[in-house]
Amino acid sequence: MTHTTLIGLSFDALKTELHSKLGVESYRARQIWEWIYRFGKTSFDDMTNLSKDMRTSLSEHYTIERPFISMEQCSADGTQKWLLQFEDKNEVETVFIPESDRGTLCISSQVGCTLTCSFCHTGTQTLVRNLTAADILHQIMVAKDRLNDWGAPTDPRKLTNVVLMGMGEPFYNYENVKTAMSILMDENGIGFGKRRITLSTSGIVPFIDQCADDLGLNLAISLHAVRDDLRNELVPINKKYPLKELLDSCRRYAEKTQNRRITFEYVMLNGVNDSVADAKELIRRIKGIPAKINLIPFNPWPGSGYTCSAPDKIKTFASIIEHAGYMSPVRTPRGQDILAACGQLKSESKRPVKHKVTEVIY
Ligand code: SAH
Ligand code: SF4
Repeated sequence: MTHTTLIGLSFDALKTELHSKLGVESYRARQIWEWIYRFGKTSFDDMTNLSKDMRTSLSEHYTIERPFISMEQCSADGTQKWLLQFEDKNEVETVFIPESDRGTLCISSQVGCTLTCSFCHTGTQTLVRNLTAADILHQIMVAKDRLNDWGAPTDPRKLTNVVLMGMGEPFYNYENVKTAMSILMDENGIGFGKRRITLSTSGIVPFIDQCADDLGLNLAISLHAVRDDLRNELVPINKKYPLKELLDSCRRYAEKTQNRRITFEYVMLNGVNDSVADAKELIRRIKGIPAKINLIPFNPWPGSGYTCSAPDKIKTFASIIEHAGYMSPVRTPRGQDILAACGQLKSESKRPVKHKVTEVIY
């Protein structure tokens, strides 16, 4: 018998489930919730304030185990990457990026992506399926296990930030993303503040408005071009939600979230979108939006057909934007040696896998 996972149910859903199936009282459901999300337990046996009978009956019906880690890699720069395999054998990648003042986990929202941004490796892998709320949370919980990052709420944390910037378009799996992020933010559990979570989207306008109302996370927009003709080519969803509509929705997002700064991501493609004119047009178009512009050096992948802009070109681009009063950091590529950098993620799911690798490279 396969057991149903309790991971990914909202607290109310967990309470209802356990009450209707096993008669578990509400305060017990709260204790179970804390064991799962505050202490990171993966076995009902560890829930020492529950009776033996209740633990047995829980384990007869449910599971709180993690998915299988089919690969774990550590880059020379400290970046770590896990390939998680779910019960249906689909796989996703999750990347941990340690920095001096923070530790950021980059998680995926879908296996593959339905969109086809021309410079993105994930875009070449057609959608296999949406991740469930459990699959999304499991990425965070596995990282916390592997980093030994559970413990008292006052302990310093290794994992301080979560970014939805892995595989997939989070707004095309919005319900599951929303459930998972609400659980992540629950103060009786992992307790992540909404300012420590960033959702990156290619620009699905209706959901930008909805997300401001529901979650109010940090928003990152994959901008990459400031003329519709070029953006149609690089980020084809632009044909449906063109720049003006997109930027208007960003204005509304900032208004609804007390002027929260929007991050614009801009991949630097040699000779494509990196001219002085592009930088000036960018400033003109985002006028009035509280913003930061992250310049991302293009990370190459086999067969991409693009190259990255030269460092001095990137510097010039950044300085024009900074002169206009915006922060414009150039993102340092991390974990390139293990194909963990932006846009390099792609799992083997759907393609035939000849043999499964389980490797730990340190
Ligand atoms: N699908 C979402 C989130 C995942 S992509 C989105 O598009 O926003 C995370 C970021 O990496 C996006 O800004 C994406 O455009 C960028 N990216 C994709 N491929 C890249 C590449 N090869 N080099 C650098 N950045 C890339
Ligand atoms: Fe999908 Fe984002 Fe890649 Fe575009 S950049 S193909 S939306 S993952």
